Amino acid sequence: MFDRPLKILLVSSEVVPFAKTGGLADVAGSLPKALATVGNDNLGNDVRVALPHYKGIEGAAYRTDFPVLFNNRAETAIIRESSLEAQFEGEHRMIPVYLVDNHHYFYRDRMYMFADEAERFTFFCRAVLEMLPRLNWQPDLIHCNDWQTGPIPFFLRVRYARDPFYSRMATVFTIHNLQYQGNFPRETLDLLGVGDEYFTPDQLEFYGTVSYMKMGILYADVINTVSKTYAAEIQRPELGERLDGLLRKRSHDLYGIVNGINYHEFNPKTDHRIHRNFDRDSVENKKENKYALQKEMHLPVRDVPVLGLISRLVDQKGLDLIAGISDQLLAQDVQFVVLGSGDRYYEDLFRSLRERYPEKMGVYIGFNAILAQRIYAGADMFLMPSKFEPCGLGQLIAMRYGTIPVVRATGGLADTVHDYNPATGSGNGFVFSEYDGAALWDAVGRAIKLYREHPDQWLKLVKSAMELDFSWARSGVEYLQLYQEALSRHLALAKTA
Ligand code: ADP
Repeated sequence: MFDRPLKILLVSSEVVPFAKTGGLADVAGSLPKALATVGNDNLGNDVRVALPHYKGIEGAAYRTDFPVLFNNRAETAIIRESSLEAQFEGEHRMIPVYLVDNHHYFYRDRMYMFADEAERFTFFCRAVLEMLPRLNWQPDLIHCNDWQTGPIPFFLRVRYARDPFYSRMATVFTIHNLQYQGNFPRETLDLLGVGDEYFTPDQLEFYGTVSYMKMGILYADVINTVSKTYAAEIQRPELGERLDGLLRKRSHDLYGIVNGINYHEFNPKTDHRIHRNFDRDSVENKKENKYALQKEMHLPVRDVPVLGLISRLVDQKGLDLIAGISDQLLAQDVQFVVLGSGDRYYEDLFRSLRERYPEKMGVYIGFNAILAQRIYAGADMFLMPSKFEPCGLGQLIAMRYGTIPVVRATGGLADTVHDYNPATGSGNGFVFSEYDGAALWDAVGRAIKLYREHPDQWLKLVKSAMELDFSWARSGVEYLQLYQEALSRHLALAKTA
């Protein structure tokens, strides 16, 4: 099926371990490792990665610099190089990572949410395309991710199509979250170097703005999102974020591939961040992680069900449902550990719960990758009652660490977690459908009841969750198939042009 190794450039605004605010970074840091080692009888593909060089990233070596003619002036792009190390069945491969440096755009105290966002990421996309001939590297395909990279398919189609260096490059555009769209004022057309003729509903115009998400969807050879259910959901008005019409139009080019997680990084048997390592055969050691977590969070050290939540604290995550059941939940003999940051409203909500229930609530407001692992390892249950969830990684990491997810059946949660059936023992978590507190409470209640009343069945559930395979092996192959699809569509398009 894969007749030759491919040259693939993955472009993302965040990549683990260089920069992360959410699941996109995990995917951008782990998918390339899978691609470097799957397909072609494991010859692997030539995969490289590009992201901005944000403040705080260290150790990347200077490669080249050049002016990007941009918005009627020249801005300097400095390209630095670092790498990701892929390990696969004892083999090591280095994946080059190109970091686009510009002091003015990227040396700031956070990664996003600035007034000149359109300018920052238009510059980034131009610099990525302009660096390729200078590196003397011509990818077959550029894999773009979310709105920050929307201009790449656009530029390739509109500005570079007749340049033989670029004309054969196909594009894949992955939607990690349709809610974040990058919609900017009309003047943004100047940044893109195009005129008003592009400000029409069948081009870039989106309800009076220029939409970078729409740009990616419109001009990429193929589009995908990070689960099959979310791919179907975004074609309907409820979760289509006003782009459902366009997505329905492109439904033949729209795929769903569920994310994997890096099984080397997320491995309870070797993870240095957790208190006591364990695997499926020594799952009794998981309890020591629970006691260590309780100590760390200043909770009484006891064998009670511990529920965990690790999340961006935003509306999407269904936190209002948790707020609605919190008194009911904390009236039980349980503990609840929360790690997250985001909207002030939710931060205060969890802080105040901690004040009211100091013996039962552990709360850490902030981003903390080490504590996250300790919660995944130490909790018994993991809450994800999301309103919508393109894929969700938390539930996958939780299962790898034997922590049972309690989720709402939406997007990737619906594709990866199936409701436990006590009669047959089938299922790998507790699932509810209606977006309301009573439905969440029912699912949480069933989980707590099974934990308390049927420890043998609980243990079986934990072991079977740990046995599931959510590594990149399968999804990596699906991405390679998607790339082939993009290449053949690009070729067909070039022939008709
Ligand atoms: P999203 O991309 O919407 O944020 P995902 O479930 O796909 O949600 O991915 C979230 C990732 O970020 C997971 O790896 C999760 O463990 C991690 N994460 C979220 N919040 C925090 C936090 N406060 N500290 C550490 N890790 C976090």
